[in-house]
Amino acid sequence: MLPIVDSHCHLDFEDFRDDLPVILERARAAGIVGMVCVGSGGDLATAERAVVLAAKEPDVYAAIGIHPHDAGKVQPELWPALEELGKRDRVVGVGETGLDYFYDHSPRQAQREVFERFLRLAVAVKRPVICHVRDAHDDAIDVLRAGPLPDAGGVIHCYSGNSDQARRYLDLGLFLSFSGVLTFKKADDIRAAAAYAPADRILVETDAPYLAPMPHRGQRNEPAYVVKTLEALAQVRGISISRAAEATTANAFRLFNLGMPGVS
Ligand SMILES: [Zn+2]
Ligand SMILES: [Zn+2]
Repeated sequence: MLPIVDSHCHLDFEDFRDDLPVILERARAAGIVGMVCVGSGGDLATAERAVVLAAKEPDVYAAIGIHPHDAGKVQPELWPALEELGKRDRVVGVGETGLDYFYDHSPRQAQREVFERFLRLAVAVKRPVICHVRDAHDDAIDVLRAGPLPDAGGVIHCYSGNSDQARRYLDLGLFLSFSGVLTFKKADDIRAAAAYAPADRILVETDAPYLAPMPHRGQRNEPAYVVKTLEALAQVRGISISRAAEATTANAFRLFNLGMPGVS
């Protein structure tokens, strides 16, 4: 069995409340050796739930952030609390944060300010930044270029851009994480970017419970399904599934420092 890392999922969501142990069992049976649980709703409680889960499960790690959808709600007193959480054991990333101009649930200016603030937070806690960018790649690249970028680097999760945008993210030293969207019919640009990115900069993820890959599209997603995305990635790159697993798993360990004492 191939060891695989699901680099972005939301196991702390209500969707998994009734059957999380089963979900984790299925993931382990499918070869998933690490799951990064991204706790980033609109408040501190979501981030805390991810940290608590990571403390309980040996193969679950946490990230702490505020989703760009909720950027407009962020109060100043949240930042010290987030910074404290960000330094905890088994917290391997900061985010998700970024820009979402598809939904525009928060004013763009607020999204931008919170994104910039999270970059500084990631620097302070020495963790990579997990970026959510939808219909906003040019602006996100501007923010990332202005920095500061954490030494620990970062990832554009659920990558939805084209190859040219990919090149600009890669020039900044960032990783690109591919989701189940890679298996969707209308994702030719994303597949082109997945073929283009160097082998040492690619990750796979589910973003569960969202975005289940084919043939599960429309159902609740779960970490075990990341295998389908890995298969699609191998196919677009013209490599074996085992090579795709080897590369993406090594990259996830490197980016999230999963072997670090006190973290793993
Ligand atoms: Zn996201
Ligand atoms: Zn997410």
